[in-house]
Amino acid sequence: MHYNGPIVRPQTDADSVFIEVTVGCTHNSCTFCNFYDGYPFHVAPIKQIEEDLFEVKNQYPKAKKFWANGGNPYALNTEKLEEIGKLFQKHFPDGRISTYARVDDLNRKSVEDMTRLKEAGFVDIVVGFETGDDKALEYVNKGYTSEDVLSGCKKLEEAGVDYRMIFLGGLSGRDNGEEAAKKTANVLNQLHPYIMYLNSVSILPGTKLYQDWETGIFKEAGEHENIMEFVTMLEHMKNEIMIFAAPNTTPFSFFVDLQPNKEELLRQMCQYAQRLDDGREEKIEKGRQKRDYV
Ligand code: SF4
Repeated sequence: MHYNGPIVRPQTDADSVFIEVTVGCTHNSCTFCNFYDGYPFHVAPIKQIEEDLFEVKNQYPKAKKFWANGGNPYALNTEKLEEIGKLFQKHFPDGRISTYARVDDLNRKSVEDMTRLKEAGFVDIVVGFETGDDKALEYVNKGYTSEDVLSGCKKLEEAGVDYRMIFLGGLSGRDNGEEAAKKTANVLNQLHPYIMYLNSVSILPGTKLYQDWETGIFKEAGEHENIMEFVTMLEHMKNEIMIFAAPNTTPFSFFVDLQPNKEELLRQMCQYAQRLDDGREEKIEKGRQKRDYV
């Protein structure tokens, strides 16, 4: 198998076959992100993709779940992606391809493009939505607004393409979590993603956000506020959706159907937040000052 960049995918896709389709991210300038530093965006050669598919066919001839690896393979033009999708289908006629898209990738495509790509196997898209707070989107240089999120995702819906979203709490900074949560829920309530991943931003050394944090330009929300941002957002969400939280950037580990479990979920999250008031917040804060998460 050929891997010329990092494999970054949602936790729920760990059991997929990873095929490198692109390397890097076309944008590569969100201020909190260093995933693809040192890996300029490029497309994998068709020959390489086919060699990898052959290898998979030899080892796992019944494979069905594929992850098209890269920061945002959906950025490729429709003809190129269709060519790649058809190559997957040649070797794995029952294969389903999931991959990342940026919101601007969605908005550059028409509903017809998305329908063609769905027919070529790209049936499931993961969008790093992050937040419905436009000020925060601008501050971290996401390169799109919540209006763009709505228009891009509605096109996916019109084309019948399944999609999931990634939420990144804490991007609005200290004391802004509650308002950001309500704005985010307002955007989500106009859409129909089938999974949302809960995350809180990690301030990674080497990023612009880290510099802003060091110089005091970015005031980081505390753990209690981050949890309450999740709580407020989930409370206001009317979506029929699965919510996934993993303990890498949150203190939680669950994968639940939101509406039937909302009351119990919020009860447990609030209980955790209350326990933070007794000195644990301070301990976490100290760890964060060293960027040494406890
Ligand atoms: S779009 Fe995603 S991968 Fe690209 S820089 Fe932003 S967060 Fe990183």
